[in-house]
Formats: sequence, structure tokens, C-alpha cells
Amino acid sequence: MQEDTSLYLVPTPIGNLEDITYRAVRILGEVDTILAEDTRTSGKLLKHLHIRKPLQSYHAFNEHQSAERFVERMKGGEKLALISDAGTPGISDPGFLLVRHCLEHDLKIECLPGPVAFIPALVKSGLPNDRFTFEGFLPHKKGRQTRIKNLVEEERTMVFYESPHRLLKMLQQMAEAMGADRPASVSRELTKMYEETKNGTLQELIEYFTEHPIKGEIVVCVQGKK
Ligand code: SAM
Repeated sequence: MQEDTSLYLVPTPIGNLEDITYRAVRILGEVDTILAEDTRTSGKLLKHLHIRKPLQSYHAFNEHQSAERFVERMKGGEKLALISDAGTPGISDPGFLLVRHCLEHDLKIECLPGPVAFIPALVKSGLPNDRFTFEGFLPHKKGRQTRIKNLVEEERTMVFYESPHRLLKMLQQMAEAMGADRPASVSRELTKMYEETKNGTLQELIEYFTEHPIKGEIVVCVQGKK
């Protein structure tokens, strides 16, 4: 394994621009090139941070090819940082394949600690967090019911990412599978102006969000089976 780090995975704010570490800013200013899921979104953040660096796109749809290409460049000595639109790269965002390719080629990687949406949601939920399972996004159609069914016996708190227009459907499916009295929590717009966390049983949350349609970005936590 080489001594110098070739790839830095750098978490960026999930809303509040103050949530970036000193180290993240320094690393972004030191690497040769920054890879971004969406160069326009990340360009705004970098401008805000007064960082001028070559910015190249790295997104899920051609991740295999891009990963191979960037590995060759790192083998040639280039230092890269990967950022996503928000939060930690690789967490429900591109990054996993690039990390795998780097490891296969003995390239040193570092992932800086920093913003990720599911941790504040879990901690704010008041649900047990000594053990939990991060489930990311459920499949939209095929495999959705199977995934939910497989979680019925789960004893740890489950954490999901979900889009606002599928929230009610998700809560209803969870209630059907796990019981309407199961404690749960919905957090939206974490770190942003309209941040809100609603805790209650699945039934209470269904009633609340039927009356108050939700907008923005959402994390759902569901208590495990007792
Ligand atoms: N990489 C990100 C992370 O570290 O959390 C996750 C990216 S994923 C494509 C986007 C999803 O994360 C959103 O649909 C939402 O479920 C969740 N999310 C991101 N920012 C959020 C926020 N400020 N409040 C609530 N949920 C958020």
C-alpha cells in the first residue's frame, strides 16, 4: 500500500453550509482535482468556500468506467477528492465502486468524518440507537414488499431515506407489515430552515402526514420488533 493518500472522500453539508469541517476545506484546497456527482451543485459550494480547483463529474450512471479511468490517473500520482451533492459520498450516493477499485489497486483512501443525514435523524428520533440498521432507499417497485417483509423480524431501529411523495405509502406499508402501533419518527429538512421531526406510532404519523403533506428531504426511523 502506498504512503500518500490518493483519494479523499469528503462529506459536504446536508443543508447548513456551516457544517463543513476545517479539514474538509483544507483537503479540497489541496487535491489536484475534485470529482463531484453534480458539478453545478458542487460548483456553488466550492465558490462559497473560495476553492478553485478542476471539477469533474462522477455519477452513478457510468460509475464503472469512470472508476477505472480515475484509478489510472491516481496511479499516475494525481490526488483526487470525491464529493456528492450532500452528505457523505458513498452513502446512498456514488463512491462505493471507486473505493473498491482503489483498494484493488493498493491506492490509499481516506474518508473524512462529517455530515450524513441519517445520524441526526436517528439521534433526534428518541428510538434506541445503541444498535441500528441503515436501510437507505427502499426499491420503488420491484422488491419493495420483499424488503419490507424481510425487516418484520428486525429488532434494531431501522433507518430509511425516502422521497416526500412516497412517504405516506411507505408508512402505510410499514404499518401493515409491522403493526400500526410501532413507534417511528420522520425527520425532514435536517439542518435547514424548515427542519422538523415528528415522532409517534406509524398510525399517528400516517394521520399527521395525511393532514400535513410533506415537502423536502426526509429520513424515516422505525423502531425494531420488541
Ligand atoms: N450522501 C447523503 C448522506 O450522507 O446522507 C445521502 C444522499 S441521498 C441521494 C439523499 C437522501 O438523503 C434524501 O432523499 C433524504 O432521504 C436524505 N437527506 C439528505 N439531506 C437531508 C436533510 N437535510 N434532511 C433530511 N434528509 C436528508
